[in-house]
Amino acid sequence: TTFAYDDQNIFARILRGEIPNKTVFENDHALAFADIAPQAPVHVLVIPKGPYVSLDHFASEATPEEQVGFFQAVAEVCRLSGVEEGFRAIANARAHGVQDVPHFHLHILGGTRLGRMLP
Ligand code: 5GP
Repeated sequence: TTFAYDDQNIFARILRGEIPNKTVFENDHALAFADIAPQAPVHVLVIPKGPYVSLDHFASEATPEEQVGFFQAVAEVCRLSGVEEGFRAIANARAHGVQDVPHFHLHILGGTRLGRMLP
């Protein structure tokens, strides 16, 4: 699979500082910020700083350092967000996954008991 990254997507603009965001956590390789349309009391998006369009792109082409940095950010988001009682992580990909923003992001949802939502 070849992956084409569009650097005009909204999360690329957020990473460049062109659009404000409510940052939850940031390190060298990842940024975590509040979703603009939260679907739960906790709804944070964790994104790599590199140009990866989807989870499979990130998993296949990001460096080990980028992957570790990303998951360290996920850990910090969970630690900081008060989701000891549980949470859900979702990564939508491409058309069948109904991905709207073509920059890989992991949704972290929690703060309440979530409904089942597998299709
Ligand atoms: P997707 O459907 O691609 O998995 O999810 C995209 C998510 O990005 C949605 O939950 C949407 O609310 C969020 N989103 C879209 N535009 C913005 C924005 O400009 N700022 C923030 N913080 N979130 C956004």
